Amino acid sequence: MPKIIIAGNWKMHKTQAEALEFLQGFKSHLDETPDDREVVLCAPFTALPVLSKTLHGGRIRLGAQNVHWERSGAYTGEISAAMLTELGVHYVVIGHSERRQYFGETDETANLRVISAQKQGLIPILCVGESKAQRDAGETETVIINQIKRGLVDVDQSNLVIAYEPIWAIGTGDTCEATEANRVIGLIREQLSNKDVTIQYGGSVKPDNIDEIMAQPEIDGALVGGASLDAAGFARIVNYR
Ligand code: PEP
Repeated sequence: MPKIIIAGNWKMHKTQAEALEFLQGFKSHLDETPDDREVVLCAPFTALPVLSKTLHGGRIRLGAQNVHWERSGAYTGEISAAMLTELGVHYVVIGHSERRQYFGETDETANLRVISAQKQGLIPILCVGESKAQRDAGETETVIINQIKRGLVDVDQSNLVIAYEPIWAIGTGDTCEATEANRVIGLIREQLSNKDVTIQYGGSVKPDNIDEIMAQPEIDGALVGGASLDAAGFARIVNYR
């Protein structure tokens, strides 16, 4: 059975002080969180050390939002997998549509990042998703299958999370119908040799739609952007029924 993983992607939000303030409000809600799910916070690099020290390996796992494929070298502004594991980071988001759109990420560079993350013991969360234009042109299936095939060349599927994030649903409030997300995630699973890979849905997940999303049989979790910034709101998402 795939592990259920609810992950917050803070993007470029929260200073160290703000991250600690979030944690104070958030942690108290975790007493009610059932053991059947993993809770992950993908914070900016600068907030990871202080979060790591404060969490002391408790219920919350830490994630980063990018990783370079080399162990070290002349790559100004980049962070390696070894630098992340040293901080107690377990997960890393790779190939997010904002990285693809603004920073030139491709399926090929995402693939390199996934492989280097795995080599260092990090669990990659590989993001895939179609644009509005691609969906309207009836290309959703082809786009997703290509992203999966190219992103997973030589990748160990026993140590992997995939997030299906339709680009038109990210940060727009325009959530993909839960049944449609379920259908596309089923299609992604068909492409995998390991059927137990956790496949999350992401795109305007909120406290008021998480229950319906998580009730879908193919959906094993959520990658949550905007709604993960508010401690009480994210706690409601994590404690979905
Ligand atoms: C995301 O950033 O991965 C995301 C899904 O954002 P939002 O939840 O804000 O749509």
